[in-house]
Amino acid sequence: MIYKRSSALFAQAEKVIPGGVNSPVRAFKGVGGMPVFVKEAKGAYLYDEDGNRLIDYINSWGPMILGHAYKPVVNAVIEKAKKGTSFGMPTEIETQIAELAVSMVPNIDKIRFVNSGTEACMSAVRLARGFTGKDKIIKFAGCYHGHSDSFLIQAGSGASTFGTPNSPGVTQGTAKDTLLANYNDIENVKQLIEANKGAIASIIIEPVAGNMGCVPPKNDFLKELRDLCDAHDILLVFDEVMTGFRLAKGGAQELYNIKADIVCFGKVIGGGLPVGAFAARNEIMNYLAPIGPVYQAGTLSGNPLAMAAGLAMLNELNNDVEIFNRLADKTKYLHEGIARVLNENNIVHTINRVGSMISVHFDESEVVDFETATKGNNDTFKKFFHGMLNQGVYIAPSAFETWFITDALTYADLDFTIQAVNVVAKTL
Ligand code: PMP
Repeated sequence: MIYKRSSALFAQAEKVIPGGVNSPVRAFKGVGGMPVFVKEAKGAYLYDEDGNRLIDYINSWGPMILGHAYKPVVNAVIEKAKKGTSFGMPTEIETQIAELAVSMVPNIDKIRFVNSGTEACMSAVRLARGFTGKDKIIKFAGCYHGHSDSFLIQAGSGASTFGTPNSPGVTQGTAKDTLLANYNDIENVKQLIEANKGAIASIIIEPVAGNMGCVPPKNDFLKELRDLCDAHDILLVFDEVMTGFRLAKGGAQELYNIKADIVCFGKVIGGGLPVGAFAARNEIMNYLAPIGPVYQAGTLSGNPLAMAAGLAMLNELNNDVEIFNRLADKTKYLHEGIARVLNENNIVHTINRVGSMISVHFDESEVVDFETATKGNNDTFKKFFHGMLNQGVYIAPSAFETWFITDALTYADLDFTIQAVNVVAKTL
């Protein structure tokens, strides 16, 4: 494939934007080479600035669960934009999307909208601290909850890709309140709670981790976390920025039948516009300003265009009873196809999958936490990434990311992808 124009645009961007990108993983630093500049996208396909068509397995890192430029979402945004793009005043549509979200997701009475997943998680933890009167939080190595200071401790996603899981600029004072546990290791969590008795406000977790590849929770892990939280007055925060409205209508809470105290959303809930949200039962949410003491705000929060996109998206998901099964079936088909051709080509690998999240790791051991996620052969991954790109298939440019399956993918697209893996496998 030719990337002449993308390369020229990147060179131009590098002069005025740090690293040429507005979010690090886009820069291809983890895999080498130049990023692809997108011109437009439709359904399951991206069209780049050089005229290449790519099957998209990133889907804006999750939001485009129904495909790019999905008509009802696009139309909702166009109609709203004609009436003004921001007021900083209450609008009816905020209540409409809030009512719908609260009806779809278990265990939440109220929801507050923000502008990103980062803001959602940052605010959720502040609320947990305010509500419990305690300072410390437990997070899991390899989980990513956005780029706010408290979470840049052994963070996954781009932070791991670039070897900066602990970012300079985070003060020691902040870092000392973030305790780090191993994913899927309940004994480790127990030890931390024991060593910090009465000091832990919340445990925040990606109920299915998606920022060290896709890592599912082991059998009773989430239930044991719930029990520990109950026993020690700790709030369990589910970061469902990836899993919310993706794994089920009610997200991972519904899929695993585990109740979280606070739930964070992003990605799908905004239909591709900048939206995040956090939600909880009344008792907790009423702690927020203006009715409670915990402050949280946003000039563009509840923005009408963003709410229109999110409402159109949630309505589609709510009305389509088969959507989550259909997505899971497509993902399973892809999983089985990729596993088959990698086996035929004797490529050592492990594939993890939950619903429409899937990741391919180039190591034979099970991937259950950050340590096992980093064991994969990164050189093989780099070759795999570039090989797939050359075949017209766009996967995340990092081994620490999940692929997101969109309903716009046809079985012919999946077969094309499996065939591409077969071609690339012969070069690994
Ligand atoms: N939480 C999780 C689980 C995420 O995957 C992400 C982003 N990938 C975030 C939080 C942060 O969201 P945003 O990039 O919208 O700030």
